[in-house]
Amino acid sequence: PPDVEALGRATWTFLHSMAATYPDSAPPEKQKEMSSFLRIFGNVYPCWVCAEDFRSWMAKDENKPVLTGREAMSRWMCRAHNEVNEKLGKPAFDCNKWEERWRTGRKG
Ligand code: FAD
Repeated sequence: PPDVEALGRATWTFLHSMAATYPDSAPPEKQKEMSSFLRIFGNVYPCWVCAEDFRSWMAKDENKPVLTGREAMSRWMCRAHNEVNEKLGKPAFDCNKWEERWRTGRKG
């Protein structure tokens, strides 16, 4: 199997970057497109336990992807990532810093 850590780092970079460049306010077609992407992502992510846990987390009502716009999606993605951080015993990331980390700055 692929290196789960390197795969994870690369994938989070991709997912947070995608959220950080999502439209400020997303039209319904964009929301549908992203919703499909996340559903498919949850089925093809090549770390099967990771994918399965991600799917069950997303399936809960309170964790449904929030895809109305950039800020909301970025905060949702931050929560998703923090869920995994918690599972792995890593510190939680302060979601108020999503923009500085993934859009405007490059600190991290
Ligand atoms: P990463 O967690 O990869 O984070 C990279 C960078 O993102 C950090 O340095 C920080 O700057 C920033 N960051 C951290 N948290 C947040 C946040 N909440 N919001 C925004 N930015 C943040 N690994 C497993 O062993 N088991 C699993 O079940 C598992 N599930 C995963 C599910 C998914 C969907 C993904 C994408 C990855 C999963 N991983 C899993 C991999 C794991 O999350 C890490 O990517 C991997 O352990 C490497 O961790 P890291 O400490 O280098 O930083």
